[in-house]
Formats: sequence, C-alpha cells, structure tokens
Amino acid sequence: MPELPEVEAVAARLRPLVQGVRIVSCGQFRPTTAKGADSAIGRVVERIDRRGKHILVRLDGGVFLRVHLKMTGNLTVIPDARLRASTVRAWFEFEDGRAMVLDDPRALGRVSFHHDGEEAELFSELGPEPFCAEFTFEHLLRRMRLSRKPVKPFLMDQRAVAGLGNIYAAEALFEARIDPRREARRISCGRISRLHGAIVGILRSALDSALRAYSEPGGFTEGENFPSAVYGREGEPCLACGRAVKRIAQAGRSTYFCSACQR
Ligand SMILES: [Zn+2]
Repeated sequence: MPELPEVEAVAARLRPLVQGVRIVSCGQFRPTTAKGADSAIGRVVERIDRRGKHILVRLDGGVFLRVHLKMTGNLTVIPDARLRASTVRAWFEFEDGRAMVLDDPRALGRVSFHHDGEEAELFSELGPEPFCAEFTFEHLLRRMRLSRKPVKPFLMDQRAVAGLGNIYAAEALFEARIDPRREARRISCGRISRLHGAIVGILRSALDSALRAYSEPGGFTEGENFPSAVYGREGEPCLACGRAVKRIAQAGRSTYFCSACQR
C-alpha cells in the first residue's frame, strides 16, 4: 500500500499537469468508486494537496476531491481521455482532451467530493503530518503514554502521526531499536525520542527516493527504491547484527524485525 512518501510523490508529479485546468466531464467504473464526482464538472483545478495518505484535488468554489489510492491505485494524467487503460476506475476529462485518471488494478481506490467545510471532520482522526512543526517528540510521547497497543499497530493507526504504513513503521522501529511488540505506553522517553527522530528520518529519505522514482515516466512502485533494513527480509541477515530477520503477524499485517537488536 502506498504510504506517505509514495502518495506525496504521486501528488508532486500531478501538480504541474493539472493546475489551472478545467474539468469538462467525468466517469467511473462503478458508482461507489467516485462519489459525487459529477459535482466536479465545470470546475478548475486550483492545486493539489496531500493529507496523510489522501490526495486532495482542490477545485474552485471551495470544494475538493479526496482521493485514496488504497493498495494499488495511482492518480495520473493521460494525454487523451478516450484512450483509457482497462484498469482506469475513475476519470476526469479536461477541456484540452487530457484526463486525470485513477488507475487501479484492484479497484479499491476511492474518490469523493467534498466542501472545504467538511475537511476538519473528514480528517478528525488523523494525527499531524510528520514533517510539520506539530509533530514533536512531546506530541509522540503524549500519544504513546495513552496507548495500550503494541507500538507497531500504534504507529500505523494514523492518530499519532499521519502517513506511516507497514513498511516505514517497521523501518522506523528497527532504526530506533524498539521491539514492535512492546506496549506503546511502556516505552521509555529516551527510546521515544529515538523513535521520533527515526520516523522523520525514514520518511524523509523514503520521500526522496519516491520523488526520484516518480520523476521517471512509468508505473507505480512502492518503496522499491528504498533500501529496507528489515521490511520484506524474513530469514535474511540483520544489517546490524547478522542474525535472521523475523516475521510475525500483528493486527493482521506482517511485522519484520530483529529480535536481537530490537528490545
Ligand atoms: Zn539485528
């Protein structure tokens, strides 16, 4: 699933292609894919924002389209709205004949239409962005002290910090040398401080690698250019100690970690 770095890279690639362009028609694969999409017709794209793993297509008149890519979605622009791939689930045709499309083999991605006034409510469960001033060590400490969850699912639930998914939560915990099974509220201040730095650092370097990968033409990739230390490396030697990386299930997802390094 695309996490913050990949979603930001998708948004960055989209920005110069859609700003100032008017939507003249739209369509979708099934009615649940893009709720309220018709309301976007006749409006001009003002800018592209991102919040957590959501892309916000800001339109004139104080409204926006919220796009969630889910597992396999990509939001991109094609040169001719009529020449859509079979995996395109929703499309917004521009007056110049191009189209912004949600291309999504598994068809889990969703688009919805909203007024600006709904934004706070829409994202009320979402924590601060990891690169903003609000995401401080103190903020993370406060949230962790309140949680009985194991730290890995805690990091993934988006309320403490927006945008972390399975890959980068595992990588941040490895970098901070914290056992992913540890109860969030029982982790020491010193470790939380390391974890805070690791989250920001890992996401920053993953963003750099996603931006590089996405500046090239071609399909959607996920963390493929990011050299992971533990994620997806079950049985392979830990980069720090050489012992085999383990995989366990947590909250229905695979967690990769080194039981020797991460305590
Ligand atoms: Zn190790």
